[in-house]
Amino acid sequence: MLLGVIADDFTGATDLCSMLVRGGMRTVQLIGVPSPDLPVPDADAVVVALKSRTAPVRQAIDESLAALKWLQAAGARQYFFKYCSTFDSTDEGNIGPVADALVAALDCGFALACPAFPTNARTVYQGYLFAGGVLLNESGMENHPLTPMTDANLVRVLSRQTEGTVGLVPFTTVDQGTHAIRDAMTQLKERGRRYAIVDAITDAHLISIGEAAASHALITGGSGVAMGLPANYRRAGLLAAAIDPGALPKVDGASAVLAGSCSRATLAQLGYARSHLPVFELDALATPDAAALSEAALAWAADKIGDKPVVIAASAPPDKVAALQARLGREAAGALIEDAAARIAEGLVARGVRKLVVAGGETSGAVAGRLGVRSLRIGVEIDPGVPWTFAEGRGPGLMMALKSGNFGATDFFLKAFRVLEA
Ligand code: ADP
Repeated sequence: MLLGVIADDFTGATDLCSMLVRGGMRTVQLIGVPSPDLPVPDADAVVVALKSRTAPVRQAIDESLAALKWLQAAGARQYFFKYCSTFDSTDEGNIGPVADALVAALDCGFALACPAFPTNARTVYQGYLFAGGVLLNESGMENHPLTPMTDANLVRVLSRQTEGTVGLVPFTTVDQGTHAIRDAMTQLKERGRRYAIVDAITDAHLISIGEAAASHALITGGSGVAMGLPANYRRAGLLAAAIDPGALPKVDGASAVLAGSCSRATLAQLGYARSHLPVFELDALATPDAAALSEAALAWAADKIGDKPVVIAASAPPDKVAALQARLGREAAGALIEDAAARIAEGLVARGVRKLVVAGGETSGAVAGRLGVRSLRIGVEIDPGVPWTFAEGRGPGLMMALKSGNFGATDFFLKAFRVLEA
């Protein structure tokens, strides 16, 4: 294993996995802190996906350190702490405290911090993070329900979260390339800085930063700054050139889509799917009972499974979501649907489904948990940020595509299975 990653959430972890596969690294994502008996996957990169972004600080630190310990025992050469490209955190954490704990555990004294991801319009200039072309604190992130970002200056933001001090490698230095960046980071470390926010506006900057950090024990940032890492390993002769990094085992069996996201993209994808595939809509308002909902869906699917993909959706437009929430409360409504989706997934697998697309971040977490999935080997991308994966755990090996609600083009649910057949 070349790279061991600790990611602070599930879909962000998958995004980074896709980036590494694109760079030629065989990558496996593990769900939650791996148990000591979990065999080390045969992979160039292992990404441990935690749910620590908004967890209590102590829990986030403990889980991150436990993941680090497992990755160290598994023989990783370099470590990466992955957080969101909008630097989602509060003055209490969790980015600073977790990074502090990792720097201490690795005894490395210093780590760069770069959330930039120009492809997704996240850039850092003079330490200020821009999202969608405007300052972070004007981008809508200032209203985030859990991690409102009201200051775009990452030197200040990280300084409030860490016991160490924070420096800056500014654009003028980054633009001069790898040597200048490396020298600047060395100087900051010598002057006692624990972190350097590193500016980046283009992918070329990210690649230079990655190269400059080739010898660093720990790198922190968004998926973008991992872009330059595969080339480092290749240059060092550690990464074979001519393999297919996204190769997955062949899986036979029926296909299904399970949608629990109410995001706009998913609703449009369901609209498209309705004219091509059999679709069953859960009616949680009429039957607010997870077991009954899943029985109804599975009874509908019974004679359709195996022919072409079946689609089962809890997804609903905002007025229907609001109606269910008004009746049950927001959390209970979400939990009910997640429970129903998880039961349906279990029933589909019991009836022979082996290729499963799940729409929705929380929904995916509930489904993976119920199926006992422990690891996902990352395969080809269907659309940016959403790869097919080979899921292993308690049950039979499955092909799974776990889609964050707003990801994917309108024909995603059909395209996913076309990609598998290609
Ligand atoms: P996304 O990735 O789009 O955010 P998630 O699965 O993370 O999707 O979140 C969607 C949430 O909405 C889940 O908790 C799900 O259970 C809930 N949900 C799905 N359908 C409905 C519905 N018809 N009414 C109320 N809540 C719903």
